Amino acid sequence: MKLKPLIPLVGLSALLAGCSSESTDNDKLQVVTTYSILEDMARVVGGEHVEVHSMVKIGANPHEYDPLPTDVRKMADADVVFYNGLNLEAGGSWFNKLRSSTNKDDKDAPVYELSQGVTPQYLTSKGKEQETDPHAWLDLQNGIQYVENVKDGLIKEDPEHKADYEKNASSYIQELETLDTRAKERFARIPEEQRHLITSEGAFKYFSDAYDFKADYIWEINSDNQGTPDQVRRVVDLIKQQEIPVLFVETSVDRRSMETVSRETGVPIGGTLYTDSLGAEGKDGSTYLTMMEANFDTIEQQLK
Ligand SMILES: [Zn+2]
Repeated sequence: MKLKPLIPLVGLSALLAGCSSESTDNDKLQVVTTYSILEDMARVVGGEHVEVHSMVKIGANPHEYDPLPTDVRKMADADVVFYNGLNLEAGGSWFNKLRSSTNKDDKDAPVYELSQGVTPQYLTSKGKEQETDPHAWLDLQNGIQYVENVKDGLIKEDPEHKADYEKNASSYIQELETLDTRAKERFARIPEEQRHLITSEGAFKYFSDAYDFKADYIWEINSDNQGTPDQVRRVVDLIKQQEIPVLFVETSVDRRSMETVSRETGVPIGGTLYTDSLGAEGKDGSTYLTMMEANFDTIEQQLK
């Protein structure tokens, strides 16, 4: 009677399916990330062994966020949690609140800060000089450090698949290194006085250090007031004093303030850059690697 065991098995899987309102593959490591860029890194390094949930959705602002009931549940059930740190999610403190309400704030909790090991840069606005700037991932060398941290976190929580995580991370890092070298070669051909980025949020500190640009902005960080008349006037004056050929906007930021700056200076908006979010699926910047590549292409086309 070979068929007999089937009946209790079917019963069991129906029961399991009924336990959860969403289908989760229980064999996979359940990973939660705060925003889409970290989600992509976790997927690439984790490969077939992980299921990843990103709380802040594509196009939204990770500096400030109201977790949904799904996020709270996923966070409570997560085997591994990855966040940026450096004053991003924890700057607005939404993430710290979520950690404590889901019992993931003790020192043994499987929660990893991916910017660990990066040399921090600080805000420059008056009174904020002690606060770190979070946008470290916009330098690919820092992104590589994040990938190392993802790998270490996955291995710690799931040592059984260590070899796969190491292999995935190593080929990914190779690709990021290649892109980084190419970007540096390409940017070196842009005359120095043209290597100047004007964006809405001042997200390009790490980027401009790595790729030898100057960077200015309307407001320094998204958790500030955005686009006040004073901020707009400051950047308009700054642009009028220099030869700025083009302005940039970011996909995860309202572009109206930059449109005002463009009107008042006569300098056109030349392109859209990815900063705090990946591009939508099917768009050119839908992975960390391709969003960086898309930024490099846009900047090079506009400034060369
Ligand atoms: Zn930002």
